Amino acid sequence: TILMADALLFHTEGATATYVEVILPLALPKPFTYRVPEALVQEAAFGKRVEVQFGKSKRYSALIIGLKSEAPAHDTKPIISVIDEAPIVTKAQIALWRWMADYYLCTLGEVMNAALPANLKLASETVVTLSPLFDRDFEGLNDQEYLIAEALTLQQELSIDDIRGILQRKSVYPLIRAMLDKRVIYLKEDLQEKYKPKTIGCVRLQEPYASQPNTLNEAFDKLSRSGRQTEALMAYLHLSKQLDFVRKQDVYDKAQVDSTVLRAMEKKGILEIYDREVSRLGGYEEETVNAQDLSAQQTTALEGIKQAFASEKPVLLHGVTGSGKTRVYTELMQEAIARGEQVLYLLPEIALTTQIISRLEKTFGGDIAIYHSRMSNNERVELWNSALNGRPVLLGARSSLFLPFQKLGLIIIDEEHDPSFKQYDPAPRYNARDTALYLGHLHGSRVLLGTATPSLESYQNAQKGKYALVQMRERFGGLKLPGISLVDLKQEQKERKLQSHFSSVLLSSLRQTLGRGEQAILFQNRRGHSPVYRCTTCGWHAECIHCDVSLTYHKFHNNLRCHYCGYQAALPPACPACGDKKLALQGFGTEKIEDELKVYLPEARIARMDLDTVKGKHAHARLINDFEEGRLDILVGTQMVTKGLDFEKVALVGVLSADQLLQYPDFRAGERAFQLMMQVAGRAGRKHRQGEVLIQGFNTSHPVLQEVLNGDYAGFFAREMMERQEFHYPPYLRLIRITLKHTKPERVNEAARLYEKWLKKALGQWVMGPALPTVARVRGYYLLDFMIKIPHGAKNLQKVKAIVREATDNLSLAQGLSSVRVNTDVDP
Ligand code: ADP
Ligand code: ZN
Ligand code: ZN
Repeated sequence: TILMADALLFHTEGATATYVEVILPLALPKPFTYRVPEALVQEAAFGKRVEVQFGKSKRYSALIIGLKSEAPAHDTKPIISVIDEAPIVTKAQIALWRWMADYYLCTLGEVMNAALPANLKLASETVVTLSPLFDRDFEGLNDQEYLIAEALTLQQELSIDDIRGILQRKSVYPLIRAMLDKRVIYLKEDLQEKYKPKTIGCVRLQEPYASQPNTLNEAFDKLSRSGRQTEALMAYLHLSKQLDFVRKQDVYDKAQVDSTVLRAMEKKGILEIYDREVSRLGGYEEETVNAQDLSAQQTTALEGIKQAFASEKPVLLHGVTGSGKTRVYTELMQEAIARGEQVLYLLPEIALTTQIISRLEKTFGGDIAIYHSRMSNNERVELWNSALNGRPVLLGARSSLFLPFQKLGLIIIDEEHDPSFKQYDPAPRYNARDTALYLGHLHGSRVLLGTATPSLESYQNAQKGKYALVQMRERFGGLKLPGISLVDLKQEQKERKLQSHFSSVLLSSLRQTLGRGEQAILFQNRRGHSPVYRCTTCGWHAECIHCDVSLTYHKFHNNLRCHYCGYQAALPPACPACGDKKLALQGFGTEKIEDELKVYLPEARIARMDLDTVKGKHAHARLINDFEEGRLDILVGTQMVTKGLDFEKVALVGVLSADQLLQYPDFRAGERAFQLMMQVAGRAGRKHRQGEVLIQGFNTSHPVLQEVLNGDYAGFFAREMMERQEFHYPPYLRLIRITLKHTKPERVNEAARLYEKWLKKALGQWVMGPALPTVARVRGYYLLDFMIKIPHGAKNLQKVKAIVREATDNLSLAQGLSSVRVNTDVDP
């Protein structure tokens, strides 16, 4: 049921308002009040932006979130102009922002900065340039737009103030927005983007068959005996009757063939494979594919979910990898759309989930729009407006929950356990999963959390009855979950079978897999070649000059790099400490694995997927595509290879070092290791037959490994919860982490002493620290951490937050310490 009253949506109230409360895009504790001059009273309204002066001379665009008629006690400045013709945010959005600022201990200005796309935050300093795509005869522009376009041909860039000068008027924002929307101009920062649309692989007939259909019989005669090419051609001909263009994928699906078949037909001169460009906003006019029938398990799960929704509870869908959760989501989404509601589909990292996205695009066609971090600013605004205009499905990573929904009926949080739902920097340091639950509460939406490896928090909520729990225990199509084995590296070492980082078991399984024409994924959660460069005589090792971390050797660049700040250095030929030349690389990352594997398996086609190889805009999609179409045999990668990938031919998954995953210095290390291993294991054997998973480690008796081995989520949950209880960690209590930072260590120390005094006086035992974090210096800043452990109860939380705000305010006023930065992280 949609609870949200119309009152939460826009309305332009109070033409009588003479004062407005505004949010400034700054870290100010409270909204500010400004006076509305007589001439602007008609225009000023909730949700519109106004231009105001703040401080001595700076002008900002600020958002109206309240209207008042009585004068405040203090003096007020007048607003300078009203920027928008219509409100750009809804009341529900402001309610969400207020909740976030309060819950995550940050300011409304910080939330607004995270929430609004850049084009909606235009300020005097904004610089625009002429669009390179716009033809220079300026057709379709009105007089004022023409003046600006002309000025831009003479002068590359103009600021908003320049434009004011040219037009001799104050209120220019609506005009600039309109020109941005028409793509006559760009924001300067967008120039590189050039609105490159994405491409989809399509097929069409080659000549003469394309223009002379009566020659098609000859084409059929040229096809191989196997029948698969005939199937593919029939499928193509059938599809091309209904569609303007035919995607490769549609042919694969309809004829049950793969890319090798199409490529063979291309060689024979029958079909041609080509790329077709489509808008990245989705919405290309194309027939969507018919929905697949639900399996019995999917039907049961769907019924369970709907029943729970009827009782207005969020639902946790715990379905093993490959159980077919996506198909359940699409069914619910279609039902929501049929009711005229909007759907928000949250995914951990858009860039890494291209497969899911293309599946959803195929199902929803123009109904779906994707909020992507690599979108240009204009595209973001387009998407923002399309949400406002009721686009049914909005899909995106965490920031898509800031979109202006009108009638949000359903929220799907896919892979709810994923740590990337949490934003660490800058503020608001929010968890998108938890915030989406509040968003759902505001709109009265149904909320579904889905995963194969629930977070402890969500599973506990299900156990307590706060969420309904729906399970899918089997893989779609009756496939067995992959068989998992542990490989004891101590034993391999003893028997002298270990070759560098590869056990004999893993190498021989790789050879067999490749021999059968199948593929493998290898997971090592560290990029670069070697994480340590050390002197074997005195123990010195290379460290970053800005951060307290060792530098990683990158073979491709042949240098040392810091993974925290990007600092780079050449390899010193001799030890800077003792002068000795016995320097050695230690440990291993994905680059080394890829490198060595090429020696052990010279025939194999190997690629690597990590931050270093997916930098280019389409690099990730290309890797996925090459692997999908069989141009690669082995994919080596970091946690990127664990997320949502659905490849037909992956028969083997190898985890190179379980020890490294388990040793991470964080109270969630065990949970994270369990999730990563279960997720990467889930990539094996998804379509045809049972897959195989090999997990290498020196300490194979670790309880988490036993739980992974048995696919024992319940056992994992019970044991991990006991540990959390014993050592006082969430979900048994709440944590707030406070980090003090300064470039001078004495300042941080002094600030921490004061801060400690204030916190401990009010909160006593709940306060841990100050303590050095694992990495105690980052980008030249010295860090000290406090951890506050808060027993459950709303009162406790409110009390702690009040104390933290007060202590932080006090610190900003303390002599000589106002430049110490305080980062507050609620539920770190
Ligand atoms: P999960 O997200 O639970 O890991 P997926 O949704 O990716 O699982 O489904 C696993 C595989 O099964 C996918 O390749 C998907 O296309 C296929 N599949 C799932 N449901 C159906 C269905 N009803 N009909 C046909 N194929 C399905
Ligand atoms: Zn040395
Ligand atoms: Zn560094």
